Amino acid sequence: MEATAAKSAKEVVQAAWNKRPLIISGPCSAETEEQTVETVVRLAKTGKVDVVRAGIWKPRTRPGSFEGIGTKGLPWLQQAKKLTGLPVAIEVATAKQVEDALHFDVDVLWIGARTTVNPFSVQEVADALRGADVPVLIKNPINPDIELWTGAVERVAKAGISQIGLIHRGFSSYGNTEYRNAPMWHLAIEMKRRTPGLMMINDPSHISGRRDILLDVAQKAIDLDMDGLIIETHIDPDKAWSDAKQQITPERLAELLDSIKWRHETTTEKAFIDALDKLREQINHIDDELIQLLGQRMKIADQIGKYKKDNNITILQTNRWNAILEKAFAKGDKLNLSKEFITKYYDAVHMESINHQNKIMNS
Ligand code: PEP
Ligand code: MN
Repeated sequence: MEATAAKSAKEVVQAAWNKRPLIISGPCSAETEEQTVETVVRLAKTGKVDVVRAGIWKPRTRPGSFEGIGTKGLPWLQQAKKLTGLPVAIEVATAKQVEDALHFDVDVLWIGARTTVNPFSVQEVADALRGADVPVLIKNPINPDIELWTGAVERVAKAGISQIGLIHRGFSSYGNTEYRNAPMWHLAIEMKRRTPGLMMINDPSHISGRRDILLDVAQKAIDLDMDGLIIETHIDPDKAWSDAKQQITPERLAELLDSIKWRHETTTEKAFIDALDKLREQINHIDDELIQLLGQRMKIADQIGKYKKDNNITILQTNRWNAILEKAFAKGDKLNLSKEFITKYYDAVHMESINHQNKIMNS
């Protein structure tokens, strides 16, 4: 009898894990039994959530903040699961936490951003996971380094965990104001490219750090073909013991999910595919031309390098570079190209040009 019940619980987890979009939601932290259970019951009522999340141990930046209720909260999650049938997910950062989580039948584990940065911790968690049959989600590290993210995936995979997913939760960046953690979408896209078999879901809550831009971030994630979302919810968000500014009620979550335009990566509609192919073809041509032009530009840089060498002039002439940039900003503005893009583009071109000239001057 018990074996059958256990199997069906596994099947529920499997179905949730394979669902697209996968929606995970729940409080940043389990605070009290009432708050945990009520949040989950209200989430279940929306019918839009596949897995429940809750922080049991909270890695906080500063001591003295609420550091999680600890093992005591695990039976609350069992209770919530019993009432709703929803699988539960928690963050684990140590071997003991993994043991406790498995002991209390937590269905999905995740490795937090502050753990992914530390290969010792990731290895400890991976070793504790050996032999366990549990899906594991791995958040990107706090710092924008996808090698660390990749390393964590490798360590967990080597421990024999076959169901691994990724969570994009943004990256710490100095002086960043709009977001709590800058999304740096290009890094998520590069990680997706590197790990084609793994799902990647997005965490708008920890990227935004505030409620008013949650939808924008979630929509962008879906537009970039992410496999799902993990969003924090609380029965009384303003009174939450952690991350109060970014949490929303379960009912607000349902509205937010309804407002998202769910797009699909491919469609079978022929007219659409043909039109898209044509546009992509145009882009390919333009990209080809751009590369050709850049090649020509660098050839000229080589000639300049030679000229400067013969006349004993330094490579960098700041005034000239400022003038080029100013002109590009003005032109870019007319063509609807952001200043940020122009800066990045010109920096890259300039660096390549300097490298070319450097080679010539030192040859
Ligand atoms: C969390 O999900 O509550 C959390 C601590 O997130 P992160 O590891 O992304 O900071
Ligand atoms: Mn949180």
